[in-house]
Parts: sequence; C-alpha cells; structure tokens
Amino acid sequence: MSESVVKQIDALKQQLEEYNYQYYVLDNPSVPDAEYDRVMRELMALEQANPELLSPDSPSQKVGGEALSKFSQVTHKVPMLSLDNAFDEAEFTAFNRRIQERLLVSESLDFCCEPKLDGLAVSILYKDGVLVQAATRGDGQVGENITENVKTIRNVPLRLRGDDIPAELEVRGEVFMDTAGFEKLNETAFAKGEKTFANPRNAAAGSLRQLDSKITAKRPLMFYAYSTGVVEGVELPDAHFEQLSKLKDWGFPMCPETRLVTGTTEVMAYYQDILERRASLAYEIDGVVIKVNRKDYQQQLGFVARAPRWAIAFKFPAQEEITQLLDVEFQV
Ligand code: NAD
Repeated sequence: MSESVVKQIDALKQQLEEYNYQYYVLDNPSVPDAEYDRVMRELMALEQANPELLSPDSPSQKVGGEALSKFSQVTHKVPMLSLDNAFDEAEFTAFNRRIQERLLVSESLDFCCEPKLDGLAVSILYKDGVLVQAATRGDGQVGENITENVKTIRNVPLRLRGDDIPAELEVRGEVFMDTAGFEKLNETAFAKGEKTFANPRNAAAGSLRQLDSKITAKRPLMFYAYSTGVVEGVELPDAHFEQLSKLKDWGFPMCPETRLVTGTTEVMAYYQDILERRASLAYEIDGVVIKVNRKDYQQQLGFVARAPRWAIAFKFPAQEEITQLLDVEFQV
C-alpha cells in the first residue's frame, strides 16, 4: 500500500467529515448531495481495495451527525441506521442477488417499495397509546429530544386510535415539508427580508431543531411513518407492509405511494413509475426505498456497520446542480 493512498483516504475522510458537520449539525450543506455521494463512493472504493485502512471511525461506517448539545439527549434502544445506496439497475439487481444467496432462496422475493422522502428521520414513542417522547436520529445511537416540537406537527397523532393499544410503541418515519409549504415559507421570508432556505430538507431540519416549539408550530411540517422500533404488549404482523397497515389503523399517516411488489421486474416498474411522476408529487424525493417484506428474512439478513442488509435506497439521477447551492444563504 502506498503512502499516497493513505493520504488520499485521510483527505476524503476529512472532506466528508466537514460536509457532515455542515449538513447534520448546521443544517446548512456546502455541496449538493450528488457531490457528497460521489466523494463517499470514492472513499468506499479505496477502503474496499485496502481493507487494512478501514477504521471504525470512518464516515463510511457512521450514521448521520452528533446530537446538538442544546437539546437533551435520547439513547435509542434500537439503533436508527442509514441505508445503503443503489444508483442504477445493475446495482439493484446485485443487491437482490446478494440477499437471495444469503437467504438460500431462488424464488422472487416480496418487496415493500416506498418513496425516499427528503426530510429527516425521527423516532416517536407512545406509552399506553400516548405520545411521550420524540427524538432525531442523531448519530444512530443518541438523538436529540424534540418531543415538544414533534407534538406541533399536524398529522402526528398525540394518542393512538382503535384497539390493541400497545404498552409501548416506537414509530419511526420522516418529517418533511411539502413543496407548496416550502415555497410559501420562503416567499414569506423573502418578503420580510429574512434569509430563505435552500431546499425543503434543510427547511424541515431547521424547523424541527428549534429550541422554541412555537417557531416549529408555525412551519408547515408533515410526517409519514415507515417503520417501528421498540414494540411491547402487542404482536405486530410478521411482514413490513402489513405492519404499516397496522400503523395506519392506529392513526399514523402513511405515504400513499407505498406498494407491495414481487421480484426485481416489478421493483423496476415501480422505480420508473415514481421517477416519471416525481415532479408532480407534493413533496421532494431523491429515490425509492426497497425493503424485503418478510420480517423473518429481515432478521436473517441482519445489518452491516451503518445499514440493514435487507433494504436499499435506490436513488434517482441527481436533479440539483452545484450552482444551486452557491450564493444561497441558509437559515437554521
Ligand atoms: P440516506 O438519506 O441515504 O438514507 C437513510 C434515510 O432515509 C433514513 O434515515 C430516513 O431519514 C430516510 N428515508 C426516507 N424515506 C424513507 C423510507 N421510506 N424508509 C426508510 N428510510 C427513509 O442516508 P443518510 O445517512 O440519512 O444520509 C446520507 C445522504 O444524505 C447522502 O447520501 C447524501 O445524499 C446526504 N448528505 C448530504 C450532505 C451534503 O453535504 N450535501 C452531507 C451529508 C449527507
């Protein structure tokens, strides 16, 4: 291994750490996501070719950013992970092949397909049906306590509906701003001579991580549930899509584009359909998330460092341009 590879890896790690700080801590990205993804791939390729240089503190092994100290901290009982990416059909079919080989199955798998909402992940905890705590993902292990802020989001239930109320239920999902709400927020800020937000993701993150929940309450935030963490006192269905239906019964808002499909051809058709309708959706997405539906398969597949093996973010081609981020002032 040459000294220049060591230097190259160090430089990429430093670059990504700086991008992460701007994005996760300041909610103020300095480069477009496509550029971030390109640098990350470069680092991962070098680490793969030189495994002795892979360290556990590498940005390729970590989730998100540290929780801000201005909030009290919440330790996640079940870690909140990230997702691995596929950028084209070949990478998606390689993902499918890997999991079939691991599971020792040759038949087509059932997949739950969901839009990849461009907001931020939150965990919401209900005890005996009442919302008691909400937290950001943070670094995956420890997040920020944002309970009062999440309570102001219009479509987050403060109390579960219906029967079989679990003793404890942790619901996970994305907090985001729809395009219309984002544009209105920016128009108002512009008219008042205030700073505008670069994109709906930053607007959502900045709005949710406010110390004063009255400010959050004025922001057009929305929530869609997409999974669970800790569940006690009730048996959930043994497949992901069916679990989402149960969450819907309890009153959680769900992305209406979620579909259950079988095999890679149907996944590709879903991907194409959402890609074609991307501009007409009410919210921004940067791809679709494909999840193995059977929970027993998910358990068998398990996790790698920062992501589950049973799901993948199948990203759309980049829409944004580097210039979009230049000369734009951001607001937290
Ligand atoms: P990710 O955004 O690629 O995937 C994981 C996240 O997807 C989850 O935490 C969740 O918030 C979200 N998600 C949306 N819909 C979902 C669904 N239906 N099911 C499950 N999860 C869903 O990973 P990440 O670790 O949050 O962030 C990495 C990405 O963030 C990078 O690939 C890059 O695009 C962007 N990023 C950009 C910069 C920058 O400087 N521009 C810096 C850091 C990260």
